[in-house]
Amino acid sequence: MINEITAKSILRKQKRIDSWFISSYAINLYRGCSHNCVYCDGRDERYQVEGDFGRDVSIKTNALELLDRELDPARKRKPFQGGFMMVCGGVSDSYQHFEREYRMTRKTLELLLKYGHPVHMLTKSTLIERDLNVLSEIRRERGAVVSFSFSSVDDKISRLLEPGVPAPSERLDTIRRFKDAGFDCGMYLMPVVPFITDSAEMIEETVAAAKEAGVDFVIFSGMTLKPGRQKDYFITFFKEHFPQQLPDLQKLYSNNSPWGAPSSNDAYEAEGFFSAVALKYRMPKRMPSAIWAELVSRNEQILLILDQLEYLARLAGHNSPYGKAAWTLSSQESPIESMSIEELTSLRGIGVFTAKLIREIAETGTCGYYDKLL
Ligand code: SF4
Repeated sequence: MINEITAKSILRKQKRIDSWFISSYAINLYRGCSHNCVYCDGRDERYQVEGDFGRDVSIKTNALELLDRELDPARKRKPFQGGFMMVCGGVSDSYQHFEREYRMTRKTLELLLKYGHPVHMLTKSTLIERDLNVLSEIRRERGAVVSFSFSSVDDKISRLLEPGVPAPSERLDTIRRFKDAGFDCGMYLMPVVPFITDSAEMIEETVAAAKEAGVDFVIFSGMTLKPGRQKDYFITFFKEHFPQQLPDLQKLYSNNSPWGAPSSNDAYEAEGFFSAVALKYRMPKRMPSAIWAELVSRNEQILLILDQLEYLARLAGHNSPYGKAAWTLSSQESPIESMSIEELTSLRGIGVFTAKLIREIAETGTCGYYDKLL
C-alpha cells in the first residue's frame, strides 16, 4: 500500500565522504521497500518505517520540488563536496515496484543531469534498465557507476531470501548490458547470509559470476540482525525454511548486540573465503580509485584511500593504523596534500610508514601498498 507524505528535505549530506560508495550525499525518495528481503535492516525500529514492512511504502511526493531547490548551486553557500550522489537508501530501493508508476528515480536522475552531478546507483532491480539513456548521459557528462546488491547468485535461494526482486541471473544480465554501454559496475555482496549463502563454494560461485559479467569490484559484508522487528522477522523465516540450523543461528546472534553484529568470530570465516576468492579472480574488494579519482579533491582522495586501506589491510591480516589516520587528518585545517612527513608524524596516530604512504598518494594519486591490497 502506498502512503503519500511530504518531506522537509531530501538531500542528506554525510559528515565525510563514504569510502564504500564514494558518496557525500544520499537521496531517499521512498520509505520502506516492496522488495521485502527477509534480512532487510530497514525493519529495525530505529529507522521508523511505519506499517507492514515489505507491503506499506511511503513516497515523498514533494521530493522533486525540494531537490530542484537543494541542487541549485545558486542557492548554496558552500560548494558541493566531491564524490557521487547516491540515489538509494538503507530502507528502500529506488527501483522497487512503485517506481514503475511514480517514476521518482527517473525524474531525480534528470535533475542530477541538469545540475551536473555524478551518480552511483545501487539496486536489486532490473528496472534500472529503463533509465539507461539518462544514466548514459550522466556518465558521459559527469560520471556514473551502477551497482547491484546480491546475497548470492543462486536463483532458487534468492527467491526465498529476496521474494520481490528479479533473480540474480537477471541482475547479471542487466550488469552485462550496462557494461556493454560503457559503465563501471559494482557488486555489493551484502549481506552474505550465515548458513545459507556463506559457504566457500557459494562465495566462489558468486565472485566467478561477477567476473564473468564484467563487474569491476565486489564489496563484501556479513549480516547484521538487530534485536526487535528485524531479528524477529528473520528468525521466523529461518525457523520455517532452515529449522535444523536454527540453534546455530540463534547462538551466532545470541549477544543481542544493538548493532546486530554476530557474537562469534566464526562469522568472519566467510570474509576469509571471500578474500581468497577475490585474490584468485583478481577482483578488487573496494571501488578502485581509478573510477572516482577525478570526482574528488586530492585531500578527499587521501582520506578515501586511507579508509579503504583500513579494511584491506585488516582483511590481509596486517595492522591497520589507516582509519585512525584518516580520522585525525579529516579535522585538519591545512591541506593534507602539502603536509611534510615531519608535519604528518607530529599528528597523533600517524607513524613514518603511514606518513610516507600519504605523501605517495599526495604526489601520485595512489600508492603501491593500496594497489597491491586492492
Ligand atoms: S532491496 Fe534493499 S531496501 Fe529493499 S527490502 Fe531488499 S535489502 Fe531492503
